[in-house]
Amino acid sequence: MKPSTIAIDGPAASGKSTIGYHLSQYLDYLYLDTGVLYRAVTWAAINRHIATDDEAAITQLARRLNVEVLAPTIDDSRQYTVCIAEQDITWAIRSAEVTGNVSQVSAYPGVRDALTQRMRQIARAGQVIMVGRDIGTVVLPDADLKLYIVATPEERAHRRYLEMREQGKDVTYEEVLASIRRRDELDSSRAAAPLRAAEDAVTVDTTACSIEEMLHMVERIVDNPPPPGSIVTN
Ligand code: C5P
Repeated sequence: MKPSTIAIDGPAASGKSTIGYHLSQYLDYLYLDTGVLYRAVTWAAINRHIATDDEAAITQLARRLNVEVLAPTIDDSRQYTVCIAEQDITWAIRSAEVTGNVSQVSAYPGVRDALTQRMRQIARAGQVIMVGRDIGTVVLPDADLKLYIVATPEERAHRRYLEMREQGKDVTYEEVLASIRRRDELDSSRAAAPLRAAEDAVTVDTTACSIEEMLHMVERIVDNPPPPGSIVTN
């Protein structure tokens, strides 16, 4: 029997969103990239001129904000459409400003509580693939299959750099690597739900994989899951 609830975690640009989206198509499951919710709260705070160090105001915002994640409404390589009050913020939440502030916002326990509750509601019906940093450890500790996706910081920065250049963004590889290292450090060292592999997760190292190889590897894992705690490389 195929796993019904799949939790996928890992650091920035490890391939987890590409893997999550692909598996959702492969299995015909619902897909939720939970980073979107943290990014949407961060975007709304910046937009409303709420200082990102104002924990109480940001926590209130996270509790009240209605973030909608819908099937893609435009054919521009997006995996989903994200809206707040009918405003399409799918690409706005990927800005350098949001990326630079999201780890601070996501470290607030009240923000995490509010968003975690929403994630659990979405997962209740099963047949879901949820991608994030703490899905296997905190949000869905009973998930049927947990994947922890890793790759070296240099390889992840290289991938993100190529992606950003393709989108016409003016960045250097060194800037991308520094931003990734900073987020890794903040996400793994915070007190509330830090980034780490669940003990029963299958670790998937994508450092030496092409995208095709990576996707075949995870299809094989879903069809025939290795024992919890194993490490799979290409
Ligand atoms: O995956 P993505 O890069 O879009 O996530 C943005 C940020 O949201 C992460 O750097 C992390 O701080 C936060 N996040 C989190 N828990 C999740 C998903 C994302 O703390 N489940």
